[in-house]
Amino acid sequence: MISLVIVSHSKQLALGVRELAVQMVHERVPIAIAAGIEDPENPLGTDAMQVYEAIISVFSDAGVLVLMDLGSAVMSAEMALEFLSPEQRAKVYLCSSPFVEGTIAAAVSAAAGNSIQTVIAEAQGALLAKATLLGVSDNLKPHACPMARKRGVSAEKTREIRLTIKNRLGLHARPAAQFVATASRYQSQIQVQNLTRGTAAVRSDSINQVATLGARQGHELLITATGTDAQAALTALQALIVNNFGEDDRLIKVRRVAPQEVTPATEGELLGIGASGGIAIAPVVHYESVPMSIVQYRIENVEIEWQRLQAAIQIAKQEIQGLLSHTYVQIGDAEAAIFDAHLLFLEDPLLLEAARKRIIEQHINAEAAWQTVVDEVANSYYQLEDAYLQERVDDVVDVGRRVLRILLGNAPANLEITTPSIILATDLTPSDTARLDPQKVLGICTTFGSATSHSAIIARTLGIPAVLGVDAKILKVENGTLIALDGESGKAWITPNAKLVETLEAKRQAWQTAQEEAQKQAHQPAITLDGQRIPILANISSIADAQVAISNGAEGVGLLRTEFLYFDCDSVPGEEKQLTVYQSIAKVLENRPLIIRTLDVGGDKPLPYMSTGVTEANPFLGVRGIRFCLENPQLFKTHLRAILRASAGNNIKILLPMIATLAEVRAAKVILAQVQGELRQEEIPFDENMEVGIMIETPAAVAIADQLAKEVQFFSIGTNDLSQYVMAGDRNNPRVANLADALQPAVLRMIQQTVQAAHAANIWVGLCGELAADIMITPILLGLGLDELSVNPQAIAPLKQEITRLTMTQAQAIASLALQQDSATSVRAL
Ligand code: PEP
Ligand code: MG
Repeated sequence: MISLVIVSHSKQLALGVRELAVQMVHERVPIAIAAGIEDPENPLGTDAMQVYEAIISVFSDAGVLVLMDLGSAVMSAEMALEFLSPEQRAKVYLCSSPFVEGTIAAAVSAAAGNSIQTVIAEAQGALLAKATLLGVSDNLKPHACPMARKRGVSAEKTREIRLTIKNRLGLHARPAAQFVATASRYQSQIQVQNLTRGTAAVRSDSINQVATLGARQGHELLITATGTDAQAALTALQALIVNNFGEDDRLIKVRRVAPQEVTPATEGELLGIGASGGIAIAPVVHYESVPMSIVQYRIENVEIEWQRLQAAIQIAKQEIQGLLSHTYVQIGDAEAAIFDAHLLFLEDPLLLEAARKRIIEQHINAEAAWQTVVDEVANSYYQLEDAYLQERVDDVVDVGRRVLRILLGNAPANLEITTPSIILATDLTPSDTARLDPQKVLGICTTFGSATSHSAIIARTLGIPAVLGVDAKILKVENGTLIALDGESGKAWITPNAKLVETLEAKRQAWQTAQEEAQKQAHQPAITLDGQRIPILANISSIADAQVAISNGAEGVGLLRTEFLYFDCDSVPGEEKQLTVYQSIAKVLENRPLIIRTLDVGGDKPLPYMSTGVTEANPFLGVRGIRFCLENPQLFKTHLRAILRASAGNNIKILLPMIATLAEVRAAKVILAQVQGELRQEEIPFDENMEVGIMIETPAAVAIADQLAKEVQFFSIGTNDLSQYVMAGDRNNPRVANLADALQPAVLRMIQQTVQAAHAANIWVGLCGELAADIMITPILLGLGLDELSVNPQAIAPLKQEITRLTMTQAQAIASLALQQDSATSVRAL
C-alpha cells in the first residue's frame, strides 16, 4: 500500500490534515507526520531528521508520497532523501501538490489501490475539484463571485437512485462488505435506506449499519450521494446490485436445515444440524476458546487509552489480513471475503466513534468500552427478523473477541491437532475454522451454530464434515472418546458400535466417490446443450499458478503474463532463467496449449530497473508492451530466444501485446525471424510451426483487424485494456470505472468487429480480459462467436458449468439483443 508523509511547520496543522485524510480513508493508508521542531519557545519549523524518520516509519515498496506545506518544509524533505539508501530513495516522491487538498486526494487515491503515478496525479490535480466547485476552473484564478459560488453548490447537488435487491440472500455480510468498499471509493457522502422495511437512511461507509438495514431479495433501496463524484458512485453501486454482487444464486451450496428436536433416536445418537456433508469417525478433542473476563475500571489518560485500543485494532487487522491471505490461497476467494467483512467491521467509523466516545467521555478502559460497543452491534443484528442476518452475529463476536484478546495480551487459542480427530466445541468462530487442517480435523461437532454460519461455509469448502447445534450433553464426553458424525443427516453418535461403524464407513466411501466425480466435472470439456465446445484456458503469471489452473480444470494457458517474471528479478532475467520458467510451466501443462505473451511492461507496470528517468505524462499511452520491446531489441531477442527454445517439444504459442499498427507486428516478426535464424544456425531446436498471435486491446487494432488478421494465426481480445482505450477511461481510476466497463455497447461492438474480421480471415479468436470470468456475460461472449475463453483459475469450474447450461441459439439471441442496448447498465439488466 502506498503511504503518505505530511511535512509541516506546525504540528497542529499536520495533525489536522492527517485527521481529515484518515476520516476519508478510515486508516487504510499509513500516514506519518513530521511537523514542528523541539523548541518550546518557537515550535514552528521543520527538521530533516524528523522527515527521514517519518518516511522510514511508513516506508513501503509501493511508494511513499511526501506532501509539504511551504518553504523549508520542501528543503527538509529534500535533505531527508539524502539519508535514505538509493533503493529507498527511488520509491519516495516529493509532491508539489496543494498541501491540504493534495493530501486528501492522495490518501483517497492510495486507499483505492492506485499506482503511485495515479496517486501523484490525483494529488496534483486536487485544486481542480475546488476550482470547478467555485466556477474558476478555467484559469484557476480566484475570481469567485456569488453567481459562480452558486454554480459550484449546484454541482454538489444530491443524486439518488432506487434499486431492488435481486440476489437471493440480500445484503448479507459479503455483499454488504462489497457495498461499503465500493461506496468508500468515492468522495461523495453516500447514504442508503431500505424503503421496503421503512428504515432510516444510514451511512454507506459503516458495514454494520449497511448490514443491519436487513435488505433482502426484493427489497427496494434508496441510495443518495452528494458530492462531485455522486453520479459515478451511484453507477458503481447500481452495477454491483444489478450484478447480484457477483453471486450466482444457482451455485449457492448452503443447505438450510431447520433446527430439529434433539431427541435421542437410538442409543448414543444425537440429532443436530447437518452443516457440512460427509462422514467422520474419530476420537474427539475438546476445543475451548480462551475465556475472557472484562473488568471495567477508571482511566485518567483517556488519549493513551484510545491509542491502546487503536493499536489493538491495528494488530487485529494484521492478524485478519494473514487469515484472509491464508483463506484466499487455501480455501477460496468467497470464503476469504468473510474476512474482508471482518476488516471492514474494524474500519467502521461509527463503531470506532462509539468506542472512542465511551473512553473519552466515561473515562473507562478500552476493554470495557470495546466490549460494550461490540455487544450493542451484536444486539442490533439479533433484533433483525432475518435469520441469515442474525447469524452474522458470529462474525461480530469473532472480530470483537479478537480485539479483546489482543487488548488483554493473550495469545491466540491453540488449535494444533496432532492426530486425526473430531473437534468438539460449544462453538467455532470463522477464524478458528479457517485455521483448521483438514488432514487432522476429520469432523466438527458443536453445540451452537447453524448451516449458514460462516464457520459452516468454511467447513464445507474445506470438506470437513460438520454437525452443529448438538445437545450440550455431548460436551461431557472425555477427550479421546470415539464419536461418529454424519454431516448430511446431522446425526452424531457417542461411542458407535461396530455395526454402525461399518454402515457409516460404507456411506463414507460412497460419499467420497461422489465427491471425486463432482471434482471430475471441472475437468470435463465445456460443451453447450447444442454441442458447441468452448475451450476454457487459464490466465496465469507463474509456475504455481499453472498448477492451480490445471487442478481447477484448465485446458491450457490462454495468457501467461511474462512481466511478473521480470518484476521478480532485480535485473532483466537471462535467457536460461526464462527458459527454465517457460519449460516448467509447459511441463505442468503436459502438452496442453501454453500462450506466452511477450513482455507487457509500461502503463501501470513500469520495469524499475529499465527506467530511462524520463517520466511519461500518460504512461498508458506511452512506451508500453510491444513498443517497449521494439525499443529494446536486445532484451526482446533474449525473451524470444527463451520462448522459442521452450517451444521445442511443447505446445507453445506466442502473443504480442498492445498492437496498434501493422508495422509493429511486422517489426516483431522480423526480429522473431532473426532469432529463429540464429537458433537454426546454432542447431538449437524450436517449434518451426509455432503460432503467433496478437492481443486486440487498442481501438486501432480493431479498426484494422482485417489487415492484422492476415499477419497472424490468432487474436486474443484483452478487454481490460480495450475498454479503457475505447472509452478513454483509465482502468485504474475508480471515478471512471463506469466508463472503462467492457459492457459498454461501444466495447461490445469492438469485440463483435474483431470476431468478424478474424473469422473472415479464417483465424481463431479468444478473449482473455476479466470479462470472460463473469458468467453473467457468458451468453453474450458465446453469441458473439468467441472461439476460446481464458480466465483466472478460480473462475474455470463455474464458467464451464455455465456453458453447459446454454445453447448457442440462445447465446446468439442474447448477444444480438446486447448489441442493441444503449448503455452498459441496460446490457447488465438484459
Ligand atoms: C487485457 O488487457 O484485457 C489483458 C488481458 O491484459 P492485461 O490485463 O495484462 O493488460
Ligand atoms: Mg492488456
